[in-house]
Amino acid sequence: MLIDNALASSGQNYVRSGTEKDSIKQQHFGVNSAEEDLDITKPANAPMKSVIDWASLRKNAAKYEAMKWAGLPPVEKNFYKESSRTASMSQEEVEMWRKENNNIICDDLKEGEKRCIPNPVCKFEDAFELYPDIMDNIRKVGFQNPTPIQSQAWPIILQGIDLIGIAQTGTGKTLAYLIPGFIHLTSQPLSKDQRGGPGMLVLAPTRELALQVEAECLKYAYKGIKSICIYGGGDRKGQIDMVTKGVDIVIATPGRLNDLQMSNFINLRSITYLVLDEADRMLDMGFEPQIMKILIDVRPDRQTVMTSATWPDGVRRLAKSYLKNPMIVYVGTLDLTAVNTVEQRVVVIDEEEKRAFVQDFVESMKPKDKVIIFVGKKITADDLSSEFSLQGIPVQSLHGNREQYDREQALDDFRKGKVRILVATDLASRGLDVHDITHVFNFDFPRNIEEYVHRIGRTGRAGRTGEAVTLITRSNWRVASELIEILERSNQAVPDELIVMAERYKQFQLKKEMERDFQRPQRMPLK
Ligand code: AMP
Repeated sequence: MLIDNALASSGQNYVRSGTEKDSIKQQHFGVNSAEEDLDITKPANAPMKSVIDWASLRKNAAKYEAMKWAGLPPVEKNFYKESSRTASMSQEEVEMWRKENNNIICDDLKEGEKRCIPNPVCKFEDAFELYPDIMDNIRKVGFQNPTPIQSQAWPIILQGIDLIGIAQTGTGKTLAYLIPGFIHLTSQPLSKDQRGGPGMLVLAPTRELALQVEAECLKYAYKGIKSICIYGGGDRKGQIDMVTKGVDIVIATPGRLNDLQMSNFINLRSITYLVLDEADRMLDMGFEPQIMKILIDVRPDRQTVMTSATWPDGVRRLAKSYLKNPMIVYVGTLDLTAVNTVEQRVVVIDEEEKRAFVQDFVESMKPKDKVIIFVGKKITADDLSSEFSLQGIPVQSLHGNREQYDREQALDDFRKGKVRILVATDLASRGLDVHDITHVFNFDFPRNIEEYVHRIGRTGRAGRTGEAVTLITRSNWRVASELIEILERSNQAVPDELIVMAERYKQFQLKKEMERDFQRPQRMPLK
C-alpha cells in the first residue's frame, strides 16, 4: 500500500504491470516481492520474518525523492526591494505601528538563529513601486492604504519566505497572498508555455471562498494571468476542459482537485506558489487526507503561504508538515489600547427606533463635533445620507459601490471638515485616517467584535479622547457577551438590557443543544 501510494505520487502512470512494480520495489525500496508474498518452506505457525528492509527503504527514500523532482527548473522567489521610507523606520516606530494596527504580532518559526522580521510597508508604493501595473490596479479600485495583514505580509512573502497569516476573513488576507503570487508567477525564468501547467495553487475549504478568491483574481487581473476555480458540485467536464487548455492559477476545494489529480487531468508539478487558505476550516471539514495527497505532487521547494483564523494544534501540525522555515503574522487580537481612550455608550434598541435615535444624535451635535456613522449595508449608507441631505444637513457617504473619484471627494470633504458627518460601511472605512473624529456612531452593529474595536478606534486618536455610541438590537444577541467583556475591560457602564440579552442567548443555545441531544438516535441496548 505504502509503495503503491509512493508510485502513484511519482506523477507517472499509475497502472503498471506486476513485474514492473516488483522491479521498482526492488530498485527503490529493497523489497523482494516474491519473498514477501509467500514463503512455503516455513511452517504455517512459525513467526513471520520481517520482509520489508526498513533500513534500505529509509536510505532510498531521499534518493527516490530527489529522482522524483530531478530536472525541474529553478524557482525564483525574492522580488523585494525595501523602500527608503520602510528602511528608515526605527524599531520603536515599527513596534508602535504594529501595536496600533490590530496589535500585530510577528515571529520567525525557523529553528536556530532567527532572521530579522521585515518592517511593515505602510503605503502600497513601498511594496510595489517596481510594479507599475499593480500600482495602477490598486489605484483603480481605490484602496487608500494596505490593511495591517498586507503591510506586514507583503515584505515577508515578496522575499520568498513562507508565511503563516493568522487573520480572519475581511482583513484583506486574500490580496495579502494574491499580489505577491502574481509577481511570483510572472517573474519566473520559464515562460508560461514552457511551464506546462499552472504555476499557482490556492486550496480553499468551500466553494464560496474559492469563488470569492477567483473574483479577487479577476478584479486585479495582471498581465493576462488566467485563473480557474475548481470545486465539487461544479461542472466537472467544463473544469477539466479549462485546466487542459492551460491556466496560471488554480483555486480549488481539496476534494474535487484530488479527484482531477487522481484521474491525471491536472499536472501539479509546475506549481511553485502554493496557498492553503483558511487552513483551520479545511481541517474542520475533514480535508486533511486530500490535502496530503495533493501536496505529494507539488514540488517541495515551492513557496507556501497559509492563512487561518485560529492557531490550534491541527493547524500547527499542518504548518510543520508543509511550510519551510516560515514566519508567522498574527492579526486581529484586540487592540484594547484604542478602546481605553474612548467613552463607550451601548444602547439596546428596536430596529424601527434606530432612525429616530440617529436623527436626535445628529441634531444634538456641537459645531466642533465630527462623526463617522457606521452602517452594515451600502443601501443603508445611501438611504441615511440622502435623508440628511434632504434636510439640508451636510453629509458624505463612503462605500464600495461609489466611484473612485466620489470616494476620494467624500474623504477629502470629511478630512477638511467641509462635512462633519460621514456615513460609511466597514469596507470603505479601512485605512481611514482622519485624526479629529470626535464620535463614532454604530448605527448597525458590525459583523464581529474585532470590527467593533477597529471602528471605535477611529476616534480617540493621537492623544485625544473620543465617544462611541452603539445601537444594538435583538438580532445582535450573539455578540452581547463579548461586548460586555470589552466594556468591562475598559471600565465602561454595561447596560442591564445587554446583560439580559447575553443571558437569553446563553439559554437559547443551551436549549438548542439539549434538543439536538434529544433528537440524536438512541443506541439500542445490546442483548
Ligand atoms: P478578505 O479578507 O481577503 O476577504 O478581504 C475583504 C475585502 O477587503 C475584499 O473585498 C477586498 O477587496 C477588500 N480589501 C482588500 N485590501 C484592501 C485594502 N487595502 N483597502 C480596502 N479594502 C481592501
